Amino acid sequence: MTYQEVHSMSQKKALAFLTKAGVCPTSKSMSFVCWKCKKDMQKNGSVFRCQNRSCSQRPRLTAPRVAFTPLFGFASNGTDIDYAMLLRTCFTVGAKLSNDSAIQMLRMPGQSLSSVEHKVDDFYTKIKVALAYAETKYSRSVQFKDEIVEPDSGRMGVAKTPSQKIHLGRTLVLKGRFTKQWIAKALPNTVSKPGRGMGAESRAEVDQPIKDAMGAGTLGAPDGGRAFHGALRDAGKSSLHGVNHMKKVFTPVTRVLKSSLDARTRQMMEKKCKSRGSKEPAVAQTKLYFKVAAGDNSAENTVGCIKKVMRRMGNLGRTRSKGLQKNVQAMAAAALHRQCGLDRVLAALKEYRLDCSKGIVQMSPKDAFLHEKCEWYLIKFLEGAVDVIGAAGSATGMSVDLEAEPQQQVGADLAPGRVHDEAKLAPLGRLDLCTGGVGALPPEE
Ligand SMILES: [Zn+2]
Repeated sequence: MTYQEVHSMSQKKALAFLTKAGVCPTSKSMSFVCWKCKKDMQKNGSVFRCQNRSCSQRPRLTAPRVAFTPLFGFASNGTDIDYAMLLRTCFTVGAKLSNDSAIQMLRMPGQSLSSVEHKVDDFYTKIKVALAYAETKYSRSVQFKDEIVEPDSGRMGVAKTPSQKIHLGRTLVLKGRFTKQWIAKALPNTVSKPGRGMGAESRAEVDQPIKDAMGAGTLGAPDGGRAFHGALRDAGKSSLHGVNHMKKVFTPVTRVLKSSLDARTRQMMEKKCKSRGSKEPAVAQTKLYFKVAAGDNSAENTVGCIKKVMRRMGNLGRTRSKGLQKNVQAMAAAALHRQCGLDRVLAALKEYRLDCSKGIVQMSPKDAFLHEKCEWYLIKFLEGAVDVIGAAGSATGMSVDLEAEPQQQVGADLAPGRVHDEAKLAPLGRLDLCTGGVGALPPEE
């Protein structure tokens, strides 16, 4: 589909197109599960309603045709539903255009820039929620097998107050060295003193993703992050030593004792000792050891690529928002880095609508596209609070007015147990990781 085809679509054609793509339901396929009690809702004229007598809320769903789509806002405030505009906006998001660029392209004759700006911002925000959800769900479904897996993380923005710095949009990437397959996960915000970096990952936030993602025959290759080594050890996985960005150690080759690996991992490494075609083998061996490159920064590169998408879309750097907005933007950027284009965006909107309609995501149509309500699937499961997507019904809002709150409180709200004194944790060089290198933020002016 080209932009010209998308641009010339009438409302009627756009609706037909969105329906075919699954972004909007067909009248036959419309069905909803109550987001409070998870029982099927009953159709009553043009609305759906929860008829379960023991349901605490028995909600009503108006405008089922656009429920759990970015178009719901139009229906609930009674204005004409702009299907064509949504479709055009999906195209520009898929092309990784920033809001500012999109406004110039999406304006139609007779529209003022400011009215377009309002719609574009609204759609962009909502489309990113769906993309972030799809990416989170995908990443949770992937388990590496017979791989050397590299973990790394980066932050996508910072909010400052006179007494503290909040590191936003922290994103964990796990990447397989041989398949180049990667997954991304949102990490909670951290708080530090002004002038300090974001600090290392904590065990609480990396334990679960490592445990989930490291399947049979895998070996970890973390950079210096102590949490990764610990998490790998507790998951029963060996890790390669040798790279420590913080201590500026970049040993090109490291060795791992064969007897320390389980049978399947040993088998995987042995296979990699054989050259395939003209390719040099990735692993060498002696009687007791496997020798392998310690780290090739590939996870760090992927973090950098996600940042590049963030920058293109105008989402990188400082922000006034201290909640989860950056996490949503980062996971949406990860989704677009994995696959860009209109089809990707439409597929994410379809997936999110269906999961909301089926009660897998338990949120009301009004809440479904609010950043602060995404916490439970973006962040919470990392702490083991949520087993599967959909297990936790509601989320606690994360919007915190930092100026008004005492420091302890803020940290507790943003990320339990993560208020730390950076000086204690990082005696030297901690800053290098997040102020230099591929995944770095631009210098803060
Ligand atoms: Zn109900």
